[in-house]
Amino acid sequence: MRTFAYRTAEDVSQAVITHAGDDRGAYVAGGTTLLDLVKLDVMRPSQLVDINRLPLSEVETLDDGRQRIGATVTNTDLAHHPEVKARYPLLSQALLSGASTQLRNMATTAGNVMQRTRCPYYRDASAACNRREPGSGCDAMHGINRMHAVLGVSDACIATHPSDMCVAMAAIGATLTLEGPDGVREMAFNDFHRLPGEQPEKEHELRPGELITHITLDTPVEGAGAYYLKLRDRASYEFALASAGAIVAVEDGVIREARLALGGVATKPWRSHEAEQALQDQPASIEAFERAAEAALQDAVPHEHNAFKIPLARQAIVRALREACKDAENANPQR
Ligand code: SF4
Repeated sequence: MRTFAYRTAEDVSQAVITHAGDDRGAYVAGGTTLLDLVKLDVMRPSQLVDINRLPLSEVETLDDGRQRIGATVTNTDLAHHPEVKARYPLLSQALLSGASTQLRNMATTAGNVMQRTRCPYYRDASAACNRREPGSGCDAMHGINRMHAVLGVSDACIATHPSDMCVAMAAIGATLTLEGPDGVREMAFNDFHRLPGEQPEKEHELRPGELITHITLDTPVEGAGAYYLKLRDRASYEFALASAGAIVAVEDGVIREARLALGGVATKPWRSHEAEQALQDQPASIEAFERAAEAALQDAVPHEHNAFKIPLARQAIVRALREACKDAENANPQR
């Protein structure tokens, strides 16, 4: 049995001070990923700092129109928050497509950002895994890699990022507020998760002891429709084989602005600027959506069992864009 210390904190400064200097410490809120990994002997924290008592459970609309979400807002509360449903339907849809009701009731916003890959070799302490044990190799590379990534992969790791929520945030655009021993700083959401490269164990840009305190969503795209499509082996409680989150604003049948992000196919929440450029000022047509899908997947690299994800993701993109355009039309029939 491995022992660890368990400590609680009442505010952010106390949490940061408690954690400071302990390289093997971890913050815990819902614990829906972390406690699994501790039980599997994949994570071996020396201490857990419980942040559930911190005043970070509010969702508020800022004066500039952005939406600020506290780190410990649960996935359920966020998905059903009236402002989120009305102003960021993509986020609400993505959240409700993830996990199960019970897990969404426990899982928090910051924890969702920090969740680890579901690569089965990562979760098997006896397998070779560069992400869990740097330099040990990657058993997925020539193993069962049906669920693995085709975008953003490296020779060291091909694991997918598992989050649905993060796909929506990648499309919407957001800013993370981080607080640690060196103070408070902000970072664009799309710069936070790292590509695996040669160091897949470095998954994000969080510095030692830093805590995500808030996530602030960019102002919504005016008049846009949105749609999150998740394709998976079964209809619930399953990770995406391919997902697409689309936000599209259309005027007189022409795409004024498009945002597109993908899940289930990439090593991080995947914003496709290539697809967005392909859609800009184009007629809102299936042909344009297909060109965008081609652009999004032009650099895809399949492995033995996951080549099917490329046409699957293509279809997900086309359908998500089509439904987002319909949503925009329904919301703005005069446009
Ligand atoms: Fe580990 Fe990444 Fe290989 Fe999975 S794909 S075994 S997480 S290195």
